[in-house]
Amino acid sequence: MKQIKTYSQDETVQVGKALGSILEKGDVVLLSGDLGTGKTALTKGIASALGVEDYITSPTFTIVNEYSAEVPLYHFDVYRIADPDEMYDIGFEEYLYGDGVVVIEWAELIKDILPHEFIWVKIRKNPELGLDAREIDIEFIGKKYEGYINRLKI
Ligand code: ADP
Ligand code: MG
Repeated sequence: MKQIKTYSQDETVQVGKALGSILEKGDVVLLSGDLGTGKTALTKGIASALGVEDYITSPTFTIVNEYSAEVPLYHFDVYRIADPDEMYDIGFEEYLYGDGVVVIEWAELIKDILPHEFIWVKIRKNPELGLDAREIDIEFIGKKYEGYINRLKI
């Protein structure tokens, strides 16, 4: 596991960029953390590393936003999903095993339908370190991601 502290939104975007630069199509990144911790900020960095040129907005109401790039980005926010079955209705499996990188905010809310291998990013505020301080843990779970931690330059 990699543990990083950031002290501004931009630093969190940079962490996302570093992570995004090692991702390949089919990779799945789960983001956990309370509202306003920086999940979307980190996703902006991932998008930038993938070469997405569009402005990234939170898919809170749309559940998924798609961004085209050489490796496309499928950005989910499942906060409003009441029943994990809704995910199948919007074609979740096609996204998972598709041609892009999948990023899921609030992934713990759909844990029963997640793949067994994933990159897990947990973000926490730490008021003792300052209002804008965030502690970010990055874990690579499963054989698919062997070696990723050594490639991650943070
Ligand atoms: P989430 O997607 O987790 O709800 P956002 O990325 O939308 O969070 O928002 C994070 C908010 O926290 C932004 O308003 C951002 O400016 C602020 N912020 C302050 N410090 C940080 C930091 N270290 N990393 C990320 N965001 C930060
Ligand atoms: Mg968000």
